[in-house]
Amino acid sequence: MAGYTPMMQQYLSVKEEAKDALLFFRLGDFYEMFFDDALTAARELEITLTGRGAGLEERIPMCGVPHHSAEGYIAKLVEKGYKVAICEQVEDPKAAKGVVKREIVRIVTPGTVMEAKSLGETANNFIVGAAEQEGRFGLAACDLTTGELYVTSFAATVEAVKNELNVYRPAEGVGDARSLALLDEASRASGRALVATVRGQSDAPDAKLAAQFPEERWDAHEAVSKLAVARLADYLGETQKRSLAHLRAVKRYDPQQFMALDAFTRRNLELTETVRDRSRKGSLLWLLDRTRTAMGARQLRRWIDQPLLDRAAIDGRLDAVEALHGNWMLRQELRDALADIYDLERLVGRIAYGTANARDLNALGASLSRIPMLKDICAELGSGPLSALADALDACEDIGQAVAAAIAEEPPVSVREGGLIRSGYHERLDELREASKNGKTWIAELERREREATGIKSLKVGFNKVFGYYLEVTRANLGTLPEGRYERKQTLANAERYVTPELKEKEALILEAEDRMVDLEYELFAALRDDIALQIPRLQRLAERVASLDALQSLAEASAERRYVRPVWSDGYDLHVEGGRHPVVEAVTEGAAYISNDASLTREGGAILLITGPNMAGKSTYMRQVAMICIMAQIGCFVPAARAELPIVDRIFTRIGAADDLVGGQSTFMVEMKDIQIMTEQATARSLVIIDELGRGTSTDEGMAIAQAVIEYVHDRIGCKALVSTHYHELAHLEETLAGLRNGCMAVKESADGVTFLRKLVPGAADSSYGIYCAQLAGLPDSIVTRAYGLLESAGAEPGRSAPGPQEAPSGEALAAAAEPRREQGGQTAAAVSPQADYAPSPGILQLSMFEESAAADEAKRARSKYPESDKLLDKLKKLDIMRMTPLQAMEWLNDARNHLIGKGD
Ligand code: ADP
Repeated sequence: MAGYTPMMQQYLSVKEEAKDALLFFRLGDFYEMFFDDALTAARELEITLTGRGAGLEERIPMCGVPHHSAEGYIAKLVEKGYKVAICEQVEDPKAAKGVVKREIVRIVTPGTVMEAKSLGETANNFIVGAAEQEGRFGLAACDLTTGELYVTSFAATVEAVKNELNVYRPAEGVGDARSLALLDEASRASGRALVATVRGQSDAPDAKLAAQFPEERWDAHEAVSKLAVARLADYLGETQKRSLAHLRAVKRYDPQQFMALDAFTRRNLELTETVRDRSRKGSLLWLLDRTRTAMGARQLRRWIDQPLLDRAAIDGRLDAVEALHGNWMLRQELRDALADIYDLERLVGRIAYGTANARDLNALGASLSRIPMLKDICAELGSGPLSALADALDACEDIGQAVAAAIAEEPPVSVREGGLIRSGYHERLDELREASKNGKTWIAELERREREATGIKSLKVGFNKVFGYYLEVTRANLGTLPEGRYERKQTLANAERYVTPELKEKEALILEAEDRMVDLEYELFAALRDDIALQIPRLQRLAERVASLDALQSLAEASAERRYVRPVWSDGYDLHVEGGRHPVVEAVTEGAAYISNDASLTREGGAILLITGPNMAGKSTYMRQVAMICIMAQIGCFVPAARAELPIVDRIFTRIGAADDLVGGQSTFMVEMKDIQIMTEQATARSLVIIDELGRGTSTDEGMAIAQAVIEYVHDRIGCKALVSTHYHELAHLEETLAGLRNGCMAVKESADGVTFLRKLVPGAADSSYGIYCAQLAGLPDSIVTRAYGLLESAGAEPGRSAPGPQEAPSGEALAAAAEPRREQGGQTAAAVSPQADYAPSPGILQLSMFEESAAADEAKRARSKYPESDKLLDKLKKLDIMRMTPLQAMEWLNDARNHLIGKGD
């Protein structure tokens, strides 16, 4: 440090304390950054990099941001994963001897951002503490903005960590090197970056824990959880540098209280975000979120992330949802009342941080004033969980009254400006206000008096910051002003400004009163805020209950709107769904009819359903819908079905789609096999297993062999309910050997115009994959399509019946009958004509070799051109975007098409 200026030496010693953070060093009205920090900040924030002499020969890099706009810059850096240490001047520069004292007052990190602007309102921002001991992993997840702290422990495997992290999606993690390595791996596997900070054993963890959580008692078996909490608390103390009064309660849970959902399953079922672009829109959360408060939205997300296993707890929620579901009027009243309630959890966070302003307190007061109404509505909705909730709601009237009595109706944003406190609240403040008001009246009077006395009508009293109050006389009137009446203070181009000793005296009074008023108002405000801070636990309990009430009404609202029904519980194993729908697909296919389907997975009638059928037939939608119905029921929501009798499922395991999960460079087949391995290890008889397209990604023989072996394992060893789809319709024979397996397929109607997907599940196995037909739909050149049919035929299968299963599949007629709703849309065409009838080359051509392919294609074209009009129509039909058409447009199109054909005599 030798050679540096004293200020630079101070900088370097402060920087020592926050090595892994960018140091915002306060110099007057700016935060300055130096050395590497300056290079980084200038690059990331796109601000100008300059230099500064620091005592040595070379200038050092420097950049800076104005302190009043620093928040935005800090948020930007933190969002990019940096930590920012804020160093302030902690003594009055005027009073300082030598260099002004400076200290780091807070380190803002990705997991400890408090400013709601940079956070989503309806999402939490978690930071986790981690520890690992003797094969157990302790996890403590904290949202500093709301004061929530969840703590749990489980087996220390990447899988388990991944599953738990998926609930929190933390931005930051603190732990020792080993636990951090696991956190990091799990987080990366889920495609999320996590800022990791290594912290080992903290000093005197027990004492620190006791200070932060005075009411918590820790059992001996909780050692690893406790360590995780201690590390987190330590880190929070170190970065936040203040007492965290809102962080007092630890919410412990065992992951086994909740339905186990691995990261992959959550993603696949699109519970809170979609697979494709990770957006909320299109997820189950998006569909069910009809909450009116930010707290309710966060609560609902947590419920969806953690479906329950305890039947009494689920029934509690269902009872409440039912009561709300059944009373539209009261539900709307409740929704209106909730809409006026601010984010109590985050308000409380700001109160604890000392950053709440007077408007925040008014928002708190206004929110509290709505609570009695919530209580009334809940009580009116009858007995049961809602009335218990109503009883438990503490309206915190004392706090509401204290705010109402103290805080002005429309206070300014800044708490240092005055105007915060109501009149009549504090005697001395009223006196000062009176004094200031009297002084101002006297001055106003003075203007009138002096105009009269001097006869100068334009004489006026003014005020500026430099000279204070003055009397102003325009140059034109100076002649009429008696000599020596006032004392000259300032000369302007066309006026003179004066003062009198009396005016100065009054001015001193006013200014002093105003100064004192601002200080006093701030003191009164801060005292009230501190008083409220003592009541934080009460406010937090209230916030939690309001959040639950909001989440419950949201489930009821969505259930009522979408005509969901309350599920009933089966004996514990069997699952029966009548008229089930996929909630999200149904919602987004608005306009087109969603085809409902039954599901029956039972011990006696078969717990495994093997579904065959072509791509796009609706297999995965069907399988997911069964899983969604189970999850929704265990969240406490009604379900999209005409009737649902369900077991409580302990785990849902899905393995869906081999193509969209290239993770960490592993082959998709390897990923699939690993997932299956985990399933074999963890699934129990109470689980629901869903496997889509089992055995893809290797050779046909091997794939089929693996698929069969896995199905047998699930059947013989696990005994759980399972939905398995496969394009190997050869596997249909398993129905003969496995007593608990049934075949099902998605009905397809073939006609002269092609294939119609009926989206209806029917018993039996499909007899074709329609793979070539799909290729044709996708627009592959005719020559390829024709050749493919040719090859298929020469391999021994009839076109369109590529490999008939041992089971006789239902005829086209039967399928059509099974799918009533689509019948009208299916058109009047004759059923059960193979899809490629129009194009199938004649048997002679099928014998041609590859070299004669173009001749075959020509032949096919010639065959097609027999019906040029219908070909054109077919092309148009293929390009039709049915999903974007209204029913009327579709009817019109159909009518035009028919007229066209008739007109052409085709
Ligand atoms: P598969 O898994 O057989 O390839 P999908 O389940 O992906 O087929 O379904 C393909 C498309 O069909 C879906 O994107 C959806 O829009 C539509 N779909 C599926 N099931 C239904 C249904 N029951 N009713 C209406 N449309 C459906």
